[in-house]
Amino acid sequence: MAVDVLSLAVPGVRGIKPYEPGRPIEEIERAYGVADVVKLASNENPLGPGPRALAVMPERLNGLARYPDGNGFALKSKLAEKLSVAPEQLTLGNGSNEILELAARAFVLPEHEVVFSAHAFAVYPLVTQAVGATAVVVPAHDWGHDLEAMASALNERTRLVFIANPNNPTGTWVRRGELKTFLKRVPAHVLVVVDEAYFEYVIEPDYPNAIAWIERFANLIVTRTFSKVHGLAGLRIGYGVSTPEVADVLNRVREPFNVNTLALAAAEAALGDFAHVTHSVTMNQEGMRQLSKAFMEMGLPYIPSVANFIAVDVRRPGAAVFEALLHEGVIVRPVANYAMSNHLRVTVGLPDENQRFIDALAKMISAP
Ligand SMILES: *Cc1c(COP(=O)(O)O)cnc(C)c1O
Repeated sequence: MAVDVLSLAVPGVRGIKPYEPGRPIEEIERAYGVADVVKLASNENPLGPGPRALAVMPERLNGLARYPDGNGFALKSKLAEKLSVAPEQLTLGNGSNEILELAARAFVLPEHEVVFSAHAFAVYPLVTQAVGATAVVVPAHDWGHDLEAMASALNERTRLVFIANPNNPTGTWVRRGELKTFLKRVPAHVLVVVDEAYFEYVIEPDYPNAIAWIERFANLIVTRTFSKVHGLAGLRIGYGVSTPEVADVLNRVREPFNVNTLALAAAEAALGDFAHVTHSVTMNQEGMRQLSKAFMEMGLPYIPSVANFIAVDVRRPGAAVFEALLHEGVIVRPVANYAMSNHLRVTVGLPDENQRFIDALAKMISAP
């Protein structure tokens, strides 16, 4: 007799709506018969990986018959030095996404609550559901995290809080004082993940580096990634920084070889490629000005962003504009699944790519 496999899945998993990734270039070219597709949909670095990361990978190909270093010794040493922490405070992940999942798997039971903001990164509800816990979604303030309200949402059942700083897809951020005040209010039984996937892009003087507070707040886990400014999204590598005790727990639940040889080597090289990071950040700032100026000229409200993407209110259902843009060979991200149905999220690309998007959008917006 046929079995409904879904009914065998654990309850949390049964209710999950799979994460919808940005659509790949090849798929759009095939489906829409367009060439020269511009992808501004997944917050990737349009410059690609830096020269140092690219140079080191071919050197490692001959070693691929061997398992990677499961402890990531060389990369952790380099990261520890750069971040002024001990190597024992680091957890390497298959993308920082994996660290978010490890935190939920290692600490959260079905009777627990996980607190995060409305319009926050889609992975937070996913990992919460996967462990069968209850998501507590706190209404946003001006599209950003309302840390006051989030602190008030904590209770004895709360085990984990996610704070994206800056947040994806809104590009909003929390200030040093706000975050510190929040951390002081969090009881010791609650772990706080501060997700800093876009850390390197932020130039605001009042933007906090949460790693500096781990010594004071032992329940803090800070995550960062090589997927964004370092341009290595396809390799899948990110990391968590915490106390050694929290790192020990996270490392117990991760797969022994969760990060591959090429990723370890490329990440280590990328850490030393200051020129690539600087170039990427500068280009991002110029692209951000180019996009926001265009939105202003089109009369479209946008959410000011400190990251490498920006959410624009297209004043009509974003899904339809998204579709129309695909016909022009431009892939952006509809964000109705973030309760932002009139917004589109666009990643800052190369100047020409931004212009292709701006021209295609202008055409649509001016059409009756
Ligand atoms: C992109 C992103 C991540 C992580 O991506 P990885 O590729 O898994 O490192 C984490 N948090 C936010 C908010 C992101 O936008």
